[in-house]
Amino acid sequence: MMEVPFIDLRPPHILLLEELEREIRSIFQTSQFVMGPRVRRLEEALAQYLGVKHAIGVASGSDALLLALMALGIKEGDEVITTPFTFFSTVSAIVRLGGKPVFVDIDPETFNLNVELIPKAITEKTRAIMPVHLFGLPCDMERIMGISKEVNLKVVEDSAQALGADCFIGDQKKKAGSIGDLGCFSFYPTKNLGGAGDGGLVVTDSGELAEKISLLRSHGARDKYVHELLGINSRLDEIQAAVLLVKLPYLDQWNEERRRKAEYYQSFFKEYEGEKVGIKLPPLEKGHIFHQYIIRTPKRDELRKYLQQKGIGTEVYYPLPLHLQPSLKFLGYKKGDFPEAERASQEVLALPIYPELSPQAQRYVVQEIVSFLRKSAFS
Ligand SMILES: *Cc1c(COP(=O)(O)O)cnc(C)c1O
Repeated sequence: MMEVPFIDLRPPHILLLEELEREIRSIFQTSQFVMGPRVRRLEEALAQYLGVKHAIGVASGSDALLLALMALGIKEGDEVITTPFTFFSTVSAIVRLGGKPVFVDIDPETFNLNVELIPKAITEKTRAIMPVHLFGLPCDMERIMGISKEVNLKVVEDSAQALGADCFIGDQKKKAGSIGDLGCFSFYPTKNLGGAGDGGLVVTDSGELAEKISLLRSHGARDKYVHELLGINSRLDEIQAAVLLVKLPYLDQWNEERRRKAEYYQSFFKEYEGEKVGIKLPPLEKGHIFHQYIIRTPKRDELRKYLQQKGIGTEVYYPLPLHLQPSLKFLGYKKGDFPEAERASQEVLALPIYPELSPQAQRYVVQEIVSFLRKSAFS
């Protein structure tokens, strides 16, 4: 039996350990832990990488979303259109400001919000659309930007899972997160570019929004102890910025490796005739950076248990759609409102995918999946 952990965060850090140690040592020598020079350098490097004018480091991806909506002035009664199939913080950011998340169901092929359903969800209270580039696959930003321009809505991209993913708009190629009014990123350790703790980023081309966000992340104070805006404390640590600066040059290479792993899975599933046992694979669309590799099967829970016995780690993103979360009950949604999101939550299974995953391990994972589903089909 082979052990295939769901994720292993150690290899890149072992590889870069000397450089990481040197950086962290030098931070202790100056002891400038908050808003030091590395935060600025990281912001500049990421603005350039993403092709945007401004990037503002913040304490987490969740805060990036909250600050983006604060900067847009989302308030009591404002409606924000988003997906019920995402991480909780996309929606809690809206709710925290008194806004109302208006869900539209997902496209079962891409797991992203179904763009066709957006127009019907727009009311006179709608202020913004929050597309989430789930699992590293960009949403149809061309359509979303088209709709938002028609009715004058703001667009906040939740790009927490899509740093480095490409969107194709006409004959233009743009980075996910760089297209809407604001883009939000997370450096949570398991993300494609992960720090040594929490961290996040907001990007924008608007000088006005950028200034608002840099104020809001420091309690709205431009000058010490004069608070122009009602902000929060949400800065990116110097230590996180240092770690991210060391890792950033490898991001594209790591994303390419993830894509390669997705191609391997596809070819192994083909070789073992995965389609005959009803396994559904994710789309290999261009631009996709495979933050997660998600298969679908109605026998998800049994399969997951079986794989665990075989030493293979898997995860479920996400087992309960947001419209059915206990803390969001007051929104008044009920079971059956978003059937595709609900079905996905029952069927999705994330397989191991990380740059260092070996093809042998992937072959073993595929063999075991197909073998389990073949057996269960005839029992
Ligand atoms: C990770 C994630 C977030 C939140 O980021 P944190 O840094 O963990 O706060 C938000 N949205 C999505 C889709 C995420 O995957």
